[in-house]
Amino acid sequence: MMRWAGELRELTKLHCNVCGYRTFDDFHGRKNAMCRACGSLERTRFLWLHLDKLVKPGHRVLHFAPERGIYKRLTERLDSEHYTISDINAGWYGWAADLQSIDMTNLDDLPSFEFDFIVHSHVLEHIPCNEAYTLFHLHRALKKDGRHIFIIPIRRGRYYDCAYNGVDHRERERRFDQSDHVRIFGLEDLDMSLGKLLELPQNYDALDQFSIEQLTGIGLPETYWKGLSVNSVLNLGRHDMKLLLKEPPPPSPSTSTSETSRPAAGDTSIDRSSSEGEEKGR
Ligand SMILES: [Zn+2]
Repeated sequence: MMRWAGELRELTKLHCNVCGYRTFDDFHGRKNAMCRACGSLERTRFLWLHLDKLVKPGHRVLHFAPERGIYKRLTERLDSEHYTISDINAGWYGWAADLQSIDMTNLDDLPSFEFDFIVHSHVLEHIPCNEAYTLFHLHRALKKDGRHIFIIPIRRGRYYDCAYNGVDHRERERRFDQSDHVRIFGLEDLDMSLGKLLELPQNYDALDQFSIEQLTGIGLPETYWKGLSVNSVLNLGRHDMKLLLKEPPPPSPSTSTSETSRPAAGDTSIDRSSSEGEEKGR
């Protein structure tokens, strides 16, 4: 009886922070995971906890594979000029008339220094090209103080694996957990895969930013609060992408030859090649 009462209390507190609804359905064996009204999952609600705090009117946001509930909330906050949504499967988004089709394997023409926020959740594991290419161009498109807010499913105890072609659906399910995934990241060698591309948080802890009440309220299980996982929301700056060269410093007034546009002594070696320019990747 006591246990039942405890569960009831938890359930009463549970709410969808995206749409305000309080009724949930089980999903893939996870109890009360999906909001019955907007379809949000635990990770969708966790992502919205971040975006709700960060995104203000006037910000420019690029959102890949937009979740319906988050799309609705962001369109209340941003006009269409400031909010770009994209997916290559336009048919899945009949509810979003303004969907663009930006191919994440072909981002050369994405403008630099354009967005305050680039957002996606459980997308990178579907993109059939080298993930360094996609991540490089997404970070290049961020404004100087822009943030890349995203979720990549990072599994425990599994190693990095990736295959674009020649792998049938059943084999993809076995290797990557889902038939339309092309890669999987594991915690065991994350420093040798994603960690070579991005400055990842060393001690990820959701409680650094949110309270126990907030996290339990949206139904994010405690097992996902500490350490990187399938539900961790990464919040990285432009230069947390390690392949992106920093802008060269402005030439000093007394010396304006290309020779002197090199960074001052003491800068890191990656900065020293920056005279080749950040726009090399365009
Ligand atoms: Zn909802």
